[in-house]
Amino acid sequence: MPETVVMKFGGTSVASAEDIQRAARRIVAAREGGQQVVAVLSARGKTTDDLVAAAFEISARPLEREMDMLLSTGERISCALCAMAIHDMGHSAISLTGSQAGIVTDSSHTKARILDVRGDRIRAALTDDRIVLVAGFQGVSTQSHDVTTLGRGGSDTTAVAVAAALGAGVCEIYTDVAGVFSADPRLVPNARKLKLVSFDEMLEMSSSGAGVLQLRAVEYARNYNVRIHCRSSFDDAPGTLVLGEDETMERPMVTAITHAHEARVTLAGLRDEPGVAGRVFGALADANVNVDMIIQNEPVSADQRADLSFTVASDDLRSATEVLAPLGVGERTETDPHVGKVSIVGAGMRSHPGVAAQVFRTFGDHEINIEMISTSPIKISCVIAAERVPDAVRALHEAFELGAEAVLEEDPSGVHRPRVAS
Ligand code: ASP
Ligand code: MG
Repeated sequence: MPETVVMKFGGTSVASAEDIQRAARRIVAAREGGQQVVAVLSARGKTTDDLVAAAFEISARPLEREMDMLLSTGERISCALCAMAIHDMGHSAISLTGSQAGIVTDSSHTKARILDVRGDRIRAALTDDRIVLVAGFQGVSTQSHDVTTLGRGGSDTTAVAVAAALGAGVCEIYTDVAGVFSADPRLVPNARKLKLVSFDEMLEMSSSGAGVLQLRAVEYARNYNVRIHCRSSFDDAPGTLVLGEDETMERPMVTAITHAHEARVTLAGLRDEPGVAGRVFGALADANVNVDMIIQNEPVSADQRADLSFTVASDDLRSATEVLAPLGVGERTETDPHVGKVSIVGAGMRSHPGVAAQVFRTFGDHEINIEMISTSPIKISCVIAAERVPDAVRALHEAFELGAEAVLEEDPSGVHRPRVAS
């Protein structure tokens, strides 16, 4: 049995006719190299944004079912066109919608979760010596029989799910960046392309601002142990491998600095009694508001009240304040629509005390005030003033010696070991 590879092409990699032909050539080359190829494509360029805008031109509150019918067309266009290109290159190809490809989801329109990949039709086409093109970002609910979409960036998840179902050796994600970097190269010119990142690190990075891979795709890859190779569709250089930690061997202490912009809500003067936080976050969850960082202080004396702050995605700030107002908890609500969050991620942190101290010291040295802090075993995140984000990212990148010319030691596995500075 030839090996199967899943190749996913993002929107910028299929934007123009030339881009589609470039993707088709890459797919054909893999096929001619002896692999069975399933390609998952995104919608071309800004197509999805345009479709969303078209819906809102027609209706202020587009029906979600119809929104999914509309948005799912973008990736179908890419697949049909690419199948035509491959055909002209002398190979047999078939395009499939998510539903035809057997991508079964729950019925939550615009943010559906994949429940199952019934890959029979894909397998049959591969056996027939065809290249299969699967429309990303969509599926079908077997409960409602309706077309669903997986949330923005969802083609990554389609690709990983298809790779898991077919037992593919690797899921290649072709995009307009060369891989996963030690920081955003737009902020840090000497940011380094990482050769290896563990699933856990990538999860923390995707949830703290790294835009390369959809968070859910990384979750899925970790659960099913699907190796991801994130690379540029515009050249042949290897990109970044995302894989299980056992395979990544010794980990550097710090792998990357990520950043994001969020909004903050502070509820001041909360009664210090059981049940208050449950009501606040219950209401937010019911409104589908994803809460990121949460901070609450226990009042120092019994008659004092508590303050509770949390951050949400900027888009969710309005829903958050709307659902909290009628609860009447707290004396007043303050919001800051624009705060920055800078995070430092690295699996090696687990065994290196002193990383947090160095992060805080670095901020202190640069006169950057920390407003909120949260940690996981492999991540430290700080909320700071939005306009200090670029300085903070650069300062941490430098303090932890993550830059390209700061590489002290690089063994053949590509594992980089900066000096431990604690
Ligand atoms: N076309 C969808 C989006 O723009 C899905 C994707 O590109 O992964 O979000
Ligand atoms: Mg995309």
